[in-house]
Formats: sequence, C-alpha cells, structure tokens
Amino acid sequence: MGAPEAFTATATVGHFIQGHATPGASGRSQPIYNPATGQVARQVALADASDVGTAVAAAQAAFPKWADTPPLRRARVLFKFLELMNQHRDTLAAMITAEHGKVFTDAQGEVTRGIEIIEFACGIPQLLKGDYTEQASTGIDNWTLRQPLGVVAGVTPFNFPCMVPCWMFPVAIAAGNTFVLKPSPLDPSPSLLMAELFKQAGLPDGVFNVVQGDKAAVDALLEHPDVRAISFVGSTPVAHHIAQEAARFGKRAQALGGAKNHMVVMPDADLDQVVDALIGSAFGSAGERCMAISVGVLVGGVADKIMPRLIERTQQLKVKNGMELDAEMGPIVTAAARERISGMIASGVQQGAKLLVDGRNFTIAGHKPATPGRPKALAQPPGGAVASANGGPESQGFWLGGTLFDQVTPDMRIYQDEIFGPVLSCVRVPDFTAALDLVNAHAFGNGVACFTRDGHVAREFARRVQVGMVGINVPIPVPMAWHGFGGWKASLFGDMHAYGEEGVRFYTKQKSIMQRWPESTPKGAEFVMPTAK
Ligand code: NAD
Repeated sequence: MGAPEAFTATATVGHFIQGHATPGASGRSQPIYNPATGQVARQVALADASDVGTAVAAAQAAFPKWADTPPLRRARVLFKFLELMNQHRDTLAAMITAEHGKVFTDAQGEVTRGIEIIEFACGIPQLLKGDYTEQASTGIDNWTLRQPLGVVAGVTPFNFPCMVPCWMFPVAIAAGNTFVLKPSPLDPSPSLLMAELFKQAGLPDGVFNVVQGDKAAVDALLEHPDVRAISFVGSTPVAHHIAQEAARFGKRAQALGGAKNHMVVMPDADLDQVVDALIGSAFGSAGERCMAISVGVLVGGVADKIMPRLIERTQQLKVKNGMELDAEMGPIVTAAARERISGMIASGVQQGAKLLVDGRNFTIAGHKPATPGRPKALAQPPGGAVASANGGPESQGFWLGGTLFDQVTPDMRIYQDEIFGPVLSCVRVPDFTAALDLVNAHAFGNGVACFTRDGHVAREFARRVQVGMVGINVPIPVPMAWHGFGGWKASLFGDMHAYGEEGVRFYTKQKSIMQRWPESTPKGAEFVMPTAK
C-alpha cells in the first residue's frame, strides 16, 4: 500500500440537518486537535437546544413517509450507501487518524467493522418478518409484526467515530426510523461524511441528521418529547446517567459503558500466541478501545515465563504518527487524557504495583516526556519511536509509550478503574478458580478472554464467566454484525445489546393483530408481474 492521503481540512465541522450541512444557530464551538501534532486542526460547532430542536423536527417530519417505504426499497438505499462507504473507506480512515490518532491501518479496520453492520442492515426485509398463526380460532388468524419507533437518537464516544455510529443508525434507519446522531466533539468529521454519503445514496432529507455537540445537545435529546429512544456508547457514569434520564422521560434506552477486560492465561496456553495477543490487545489503538485487554490474569507459573518477553515487546512498540504505515500505536486522543493516564500510572506505583515499563518516559524526537523532569530510572528505549526530527510537527503531540505493571492486586485503583490508555496490568493467581473468581468479582463485564489448549477449561470458562462477550484464544471478541454487541454489569444499562437482531428489536415495537374476514368479492385478473410499490 502506498502512503495514504492525510486529512487536512480546516473548515469548521458543522451539523447535517434536513439533508444539508449547517453551522447551526448556537454560535458555540470548540477546537479539534490532531493528537499527533498537538495542534488545533479545525473547529467543531456545538449545538444548543434550538439546533437539536431543528434536527428532531426534520426527523419527525421525514418519519411517516420513510416508515411507510417498503423495507425492500429502504434496503436498496442501504445497498447504495454500502457501495459509497466502501469507496470512501480510506478517506474515512484518514479522518479518524487525523482526529483520534489511531494508526491508519487500525482505522481502516474500524471502518470495515462499521461497513459490516450496513451489510447486515441490508437484510432488513428478512429481519422484519413477523410470526403468523393461521386459524388461531375458527375463522381468525393472529400475527405479530414489528414497526419503527419514530425519531431515535444516538450518542457516541470518541474512540470509534465511524464504527460505533454504524452500530446504530444503519439498523435504526433500515427498520424505518429517522435518526439524530450526536457524535463525540473530539472527532466529529467521519459522521458528517457518512451523512453526506447516505444522502448521495438516495436517503430522503431528514431521515438521518447529525448534531455536533456536548452535554447540552445530549440533554436536549433526552428531554425532547419526540425522541422515542436513545442509544448511547461511552463511559459508565454518563451511560448510567443516560439510562436514568431516559427512564425519567419515558424513552427506551440502551447505554453501553466502560470496561476492564481481563485475559486469563492458563499454564497450558501457547505462550507465543499469548504474548502477541496481550501486546496487540493492550496497546492497539493506544488501549483506547472498550474491548482492549487491560488486565492479564497469569495463572500458575505463566508470569515468570512471559514477563521478560512482555517487557521487551512493550519497550519495542513502534509509537508514531498513525499515518506512517509501520506505526503500531499512535498518540493519546487529548492532552487531558494523557495526563489522566499518567496520573493512574503514578497511583499504581504509589499503591505498590511493580512498574516494569513506564510509558511516561517515552520520547518521540523533540517531544517532552509526559512528566517533565522525571528521572528516567526505568527508561524505555524508544525502539522504533523516532518519527520526526527534533522539534518537528510531532513534538507537541499527545504521546505516551506502553506501560507494563506486574504484581497488581485487586485493591489498587489501576485494577479497579478503567484507565483507557496503553497500560497493561498483570495479576498473578494460583489457579483457574481464582482467575474466574477475580474476573467475576469485577464491577465491569464487557469483554474477557481465556487462553488455553484445554477444551474443558475453555467450556467451563465461557459458561461461568459473568461477562457479556467472551473470547476463547481470541483476545478481542467483538461480535460479528449479526450477533450483537453488549457487556454485562456496569458495562451496559438497558435490556438490549447493540446491532444484530437485538438492535432490530430495540428500534422496533411489536404489534399483534387478530383478524377475521368475510368472503371478499373478486376484482378481476391482473396480468403484470406484481412488484413492491
Ligand atoms: P464519554 O462518556 O466521555 O462521552 C461519550 C459521549 O457522551 C460523547 O458524545 C460525549 O460528548 C457525551 N457526553 C460526555 N459527557 C456527558 C454528560 N455529562 N452528559 C451527556 N453527554 C455526555 O466517553 P468517551 O471518552 O468519548 O469514550 C470513552 C468511553 O467509552 C470509555 O469509557 C469506553 O470504555 C467507552 N466505550 C464503551 C463501548 C462499549 O461498547 N461498551 C464502546 C466504545 C467506548
């Protein structure tokens, strides 16, 4: 692959309402940074309640006609949208790298996982088929069908600015709803491009709207009486708040929250695979994935066998501007996030965890370490880290290297809290039962993995673990488009998971019809092949 084209637009990112880009009326905005350079690249508009009201009104006006459009014809628009998304895959990936910081190839993977949901949503005629009981009583038939809710809203996090919106709007719109999306203001550009592509695909104006913004926009969506349901993905405190507020306003909600994903390594596992899996899943996307592995649970003698290799691989991570194709990890999304993660590393040291590789010491040429003046006692050789000349464009970026802790215990903050950064905490346990108990006692239950060669252990683990998404020798078990995504415990508030058939159920309500008919009068012959009209 040749060098990808960087996304360098400078125009303010606005809203997309009633089929048109608009700056909105609020006059509020905030900067969008390129995390690799630390520079402000452009601004994003921040909606107020009146902008949200305009978007909801557009969606409400578009709803009756769109809901009445046969699912097959709705699917044809989705097929066209799918084609356009495939054509613009690299443009979307470059936007993601420019605003989020993740490496370009990872961003391409994100877009592909989003596209897979659109592929799933293209099957909506089949997914909306109801149940039918002939002769439920003499001369009476009874059937159930599912109808769209109306205007539904989505609120999405920074870490997957293309894929997570795609968990929501293609399924909701395919099911006949109209949609208002509120993306993260940190990386809002992919949503705007997707809205433009959907319009190009033939989607009627008002069916898909995007409002950029912060809490003010989310509150306005929660309070608006015409918004029937809210899908949320983000941190647990906000997810909990969304679920509570949605209940207060009588709306359906699915609110996916944070995570602390464990990977249990049994002594019989293939340790080469284990090292690869731990490094890739802890440090891919700088650990800013809700399915990142942040805790290695090392059973029996595993820790002593793999720790030297984990240290070496963590030190050798190629941390660079994500547009460089050999980069393995890019910068952290914001300076504030980098400071928060650095603070968590400090708390781990203070609470007695063994710091083996300290990402705060990471230097990209010309860039200061995260903690200025800090002695480099545990200095991390930068490996492939040098990406620019001294004082070059990356010198002010939000850089942090990979961090590795051993001897972490459950009472420590680095074990309990979501760090959402490139920090792998290893806990040593004596046996399988201790590993399972540890995972099940944690407040979060998003994803988990178990590496073993023993089928019985694998089966017991999958059955007994209190976590929504389980990988057996698979470190990041993000379910496929038709299986649905969702965690347990503090990782999800609401009854239904995202996308898959659960998504279709979330975005539709069931109706049961009982019908009795007298004999009808014949209308005469029709000679033309009947088609969907
Ligand atoms: P966040 O909770 O800060 O923001 C998510 C969305 O909520 C954004 O659109 C933001 O503008 C909005 N928001 C923020 N504060 C708000 C408030 N007080 N009231 C109303 N809306 C508010 O999350 P983030 O930092 O963008 O994303 C990272 C978090 O998302 C992590 O905790 C991660 O685990 C989680 N996440 C979870 C999943 C999942 O499927 N469970 C997937 C991706 C990310």
